Amino acid sequence: MSHEQTSLAFRENTVRALGDSALRAAMKQAADTFGTKRADAFAPVADLEALRDRASAIREVVLANLPMYVDRFVAAATRAGAVVHRASDAATAREIVRKILADRGARRIVKGKSMVSEEVDLNSRLEAAGMEVVETDLGEYIIQMEGETPSHIIVPAIHKDRRQVGRLFADRLGVPYSDDPQVLTKIARKALREKFLSADAGISGANFAAADTGSLVLLTNEGNGRMVTTVPPLHVAILSIEKMLPSLADLPAFLRLLPRSATGQTITSYVSVITGPRKAGDATGAKELHIVLLDNGRTEILDGKSRDILKCIRCGACMNVCPVYRTVRGHAYGWTYPGPMGMILTTLLTGMGKSHPLVDASTLCGACVGVCPVRTLRPGSSRTRRRRRRGPIICPARKY
Ligand code: SF4
Repeated sequence: MSHEQTSLAFRENTVRALGDSALRAAMKQAADTFGTKRADAFAPVADLEALRDRASAIREVVLANLPMYVDRFVAAATRAGAVVHRASDAATAREIVRKILADRGARRIVKGKSMVSEEVDLNSRLEAAGMEVVETDLGEYIIQMEGETPSHIIVPAIHKDRRQVGRLFADRLGVPYSDDPQVLTKIARKALREKFLSADAGISGANFAAADTGSLVLLTNEGNGRMVTTVPPLHVAILSIEKMLPSLADLPAFLRLLPRSATGQTITSYVSVITGPRKAGDATGAKELHIVLLDNGRTEILDGKSRDILKCIRCGACMNVCPVYRTVRGHAYGWTYPGPMGMILTTLLTGMGKSHPLVDASTLCGACVGVCPVRTLRPGSSRTRRRRRRGPIICPARKY
């Protein structure tokens, strides 16, 4: 799985994708399905605009006071029995996780979906240290087997159809070919169960972190997230600092918005709130919990003109409506985060010098602005980034 950044080749990647009519059809169908489901899920929500305003305001309060909320979270999570680590950059995060696992002799690691772990290229580092890392989200499991990276932040294998998955499973797992999604899911579940039960550690991300209670909140659909965080004796969670919410009491607004925006569900199948490791009398839970908080340039973004991008709750809705993303798929963007939010975040986190062609990845239609549940994206922001591109090509610093 290569994580080498190829954003500078965005135009070449785009031309290649445009030549693949099967891919374009698959992407359009998937994105249309999500768009329809999203519209249906929001139809009965009468107070949608007020809800978006409230969620946006909460995220703004977080960004205005981020160091304070991070400190509060660290104190509360520590009181609850977790060990919290702060990582200033990707290399530090990788090393912290490797050391936690190596110190405990962990060899087999099961992993839930985490875009932050993709951002820091965690798997490669752990595999280089001799560990077996098994992705357990079905989409991630498929692309790991294929040696690819995610092409969508919510649906990592959105670019693959069921026939491709059927051929992949037959080839790699030695099972009879089937393109029936239920059969394929059953095959993956059986293969993964043995991994869950024999894993030394689980690694997860988190959708939110409640600063007042030190809790991690995970929204998942497949049950793998709960297995990863409760079956192995050791749980390592890795998340970026802006995932803070002031209080667990703020969560309901996001529970109403995130699943509807992401997958068109009124609620995800599982909502896990993890506060510290397993305590005496608890029926489930990891015996040891480590939380790695990643900065990796976010504090710098916080001081700049594009700080609103840190309000993003990673729902993926902006990708599903973006005519560019729908045509070229996520891999064309050449780094972890694709689509409208990825275009902004990539140029900020990796610098214009490594990513400036992405500022052209917009038709300026504004569809992303209309669907963003927390008003992260604003009209005219793409135009502004194009104007700012002129300087950074000469000086590839982050402050753009
Ligand atoms: S920018 Fe908005 S629509 Fe796009 S992923 Fe983030 S929260 Fe969702």
